[in-house]
Order: sequence, then structure tokens, then C-alpha cells
Amino acid sequence: MGDYLVDIYVRGKFVITMNKRREVLKDGCVAIEGGEIVAVGKCSDLDKDFRGRANEEINADKHIVMPGLINTHVHLVQGMLKACANYRKLISWLKECVWPLQGSMTQEEALASATLTTLELIKSGTTTFLETGLVGRYGPDNIIDTILKSGLRAAVARHVMDMSGYALEKGALHEGLVEDGETSMSDTLRLYNKYHGRDGRIYVWFGPRTPGAVSVELYREIAARAKELKTGITMHLAEVREDVEYTTKTFSMKPVDFVKWLGLTGPNVVLVHVVWVTDEEIKTLAETKTNVSHNPSSNGKLGSGIARVSDMLQAGVNVTLGTDGGPSNDNYDLIEEMHIATILQNAYKGNPEALRAEDVLEMATLRGAEALGLSSRVGSIEVGKRADLITIKYWDPKLMPMNDPISHLVFAANGSHVQDVIVDGKIIMRNRNVLTLDEDKVLREVELRSSELFSRTGICVEPSIRFPLI
Ligand SMILES: [Zn+2]
Repeated sequence: MGDYLVDIYVRGKFVITMNKRREVLKDGCVAIEGGEIVAVGKCSDLDKDFRGRANEEINADKHIVMPGLINTHVHLVQGMLKACANYRKLISWLKECVWPLQGSMTQEEALASATLTTLELIKSGTTTFLETGLVGRYGPDNIIDTILKSGLRAAVARHVMDMSGYALEKGALHEGLVEDGETSMSDTLRLYNKYHGRDGRIYVWFGPRTPGAVSVELYREIAARAKELKTGITMHLAEVREDVEYTTKTFSMKPVDFVKWLGLTGPNVVLVHVVWVTDEEIKTLAETKTNVSHNPSSNGKLGSGIARVSDMLQAGVNVTLGTDGGPSNDNYDLIEEMHIATILQNAYKGNPEALRAEDVLEMATLRGAEALGLSSRVGSIEVGKRADLITIKYWDPKLMPMNDPISHLVFAANGSHVQDVIVDGKIIMRNRNVLTLDEDKVLREVELRSSELFSRTGICVEPSIRFPLI
């Protein structure tokens, strides 16, 4: 019970601040008090005030200290569905594997899966994420309570829908996931009233389902409600060619024109994937200040295509980064996603600097914060912001010698290098030990619950097509 000046004092080797000048401080230090960053600078300047005067001092002298990562597209309940739907295009992937599994989940299974994902997000350095679509059968309250307990910051979208199709395929959605407009809308509003703003870490958003599952009237109602409540909307859009076919054949509009017509564009909207768009549509996204979440692993694994990220950034679109879910990635490691985003875009464009390490780092921090309406609170290490930061240990053959912290972070590191995670000024992982969840218990629970789900549905029980498990 000492007389401390600050709660936490982090002494780093490199501090990637992501401040306006994008300064990287060598021998940099950060002081945290009351959940907020109160000082950032060279340790030689700050030590006299803070050294030995913090409740907790983190010696990160073989570490990069950086803002916590912001993952703008997560499906929490897909965590335990890794490897369950390999080698399929999106619509058969959804219809034959992913939706039947999700539509058969009990609340206990959904919670086990969501908790697993939460744990993985922490262990790979994500401090804020956008969950895309909770539904009633998962028991959304239990899942949000778990996020609160974990210490993470999140915008949580609940699905809103009143049709059961996907694009032109009517009745594509699994019966266990079908909800009507009244139920899905009223439960979203209930969750908003119960949780929005809770602990300064939870925001409740609208998650309209993909075109084909929502009527024009309901899309319009979502847009109006979100505006009235000053909250966000996130939705998959133009992920595959069938999405373009749907809006073109049904409404004679391209996907971005369609959502603009519905009122679903603007700074409070995060559109996910946005692979199949024209120059004109990109211009509309920029003009309306609509955010895009780029998910390169998922688009690659499902053979959906490669989003025009560098074109969008050049046109002024705020493009962010997301991992998507277990069966399309198959992890939630945003450091790995930064790597894939840059090398894929550069290969696609035939230009080694179409998307540089600096660009993807902005997508995974500042741009994510902006998309979630949190840019005054998180996304950089600056005085006055909430203290969401992570340390990456570079004392590892993969990352040595430390010639360039930004390059190494994007091209050589992965989530396993994350050592410490601080959110809202609270240490939630220290030396890779998660302090807010019982890791062993979470893993044991997911092992049990996943095998129950797979044996009940008969899906995901044959591990490999060509290599028999004996
Ligand atoms: Zn998704």
C-alpha cells in the first residue's frame, strides 16, 4: 500500500506511438494513471518523475510497446469451428457447414466458443474488436458479460433480419438462425439499453444480415435507429460475385449504391470485405466517409477474391483490418493479418509498396479506432487517451536483430510474440499469462463442448480428405 504517483510505468526499448508525427521512441516510457495515458516520452526524460513511483513497473527493455490492435471483423462464436469447412466457396461453406453448426449451438457451446475467441484475441494483442453478429440462440448477454470480464473493449453488433436468404438463394439460412424482424430488432434495442457504454468498454451496434436476408423497410429502420441512438452498423457487403448479382438483378444497383440508397453509408458504418466494387463505388465510399473492414485471410481461404485496398486508401476510404472467424481464417491473430494484407496486396498490384508495413499498421490501430468512433479514446499512445497498449518481445530468433521495429512487427512477428496486454489501464495479460480468464478451464470447456456439437451435427468429424486420422 505504497504512496504511488501512477498505476503503471512501462519502460520499453521501442515505443511505436502512432501519434500525429508517427514517432517511434527508442528507450521510450509510458506512464498510466486512472486508466489513462498521462506521460509518453524518452525514459531519460520521464524516469526522474516516475521510476520507482508506480504501483506496477513493467520492464519491457527487450520489447516493442505499441497501441493495442483493433480488429474490425470478428465472429466470436466461430472460434471452435476452425477447420470445419475447408475448401468451399462462401455460400456452400455457409449452407453446408458454418450455418448448420452455428444454428445447432446450445448457449453453453456458443459461450465456450466465444470465450475461446476472447482468450485468443487477448493472447495475440487485440485490445478492441467489432463483433459482427450475435443472435438470440447464442445467449448474447452471457457473451457480452464474458467480454466485460475479460477486460477487452468491444463494439458488439447483434444481427437484425427478416428474411432467410443469401443473395438470390431464398431460404439459404439454417433454420436455427432464422429470426423475425420484430424479435431481432427488439432484442438489439434491449441489449443497447442494457450494455451500451458499460464500463466505458462496451458499445452495442446493429448488425444487419447480408443482402438477401433483410427487407428494404427493415434496412431503412436500422439506419434510422442507429442514427437516433448514435451507434454503429456493421454488415458484410460485396464479398463474392453473387452479392453483386443480387443487388443488380433485384434492385438494378451495385452493392455500394444499394446500401447508400438504404441509408447504410456514413462514418458510423463498417462494411466488411467489399471485394467486388467498381471505381465509382469506391468514390461513393470515400464521399460518404463509410468505413471498410479488409479481411484478406478469409477472402483468400474461401477463394472470394482480393479487395482493392490500395485503390480504396488512395481514394480516401478509411480501410481497417479484420480477421473474420474461425472457419475462414483460421485464427484471430491481427499481427498475422497485417502480414498477409501487405504481401497479398503487393503481389496483386505487382508493386512492392502498394501497401507498406506502415499502412497496415495504421489500418490495425488508428483507422480501426476511427471506424469504431473511438479515435479520441484509443488507437495511439498519446497523453489523454485510454491506456490500451501491448508489448511485443523481440528477444527471439525470428525478430533478431531488431533492425526495424515496424518492419519486423508486420513481416516477421505474430501474435505469439505478444507478452503483455493492458486495456483501459488494467493489465489483462502479463508475460503471456491471461489474468482475467482461466486459460486451462476455457480450453477444457471448448474441447468438451466442440466434440458434443460435432458429434450431434455430424459436421467437422472427418479431419482431412486425403490424410486419414487413425
Ligand atoms: Zn464475416
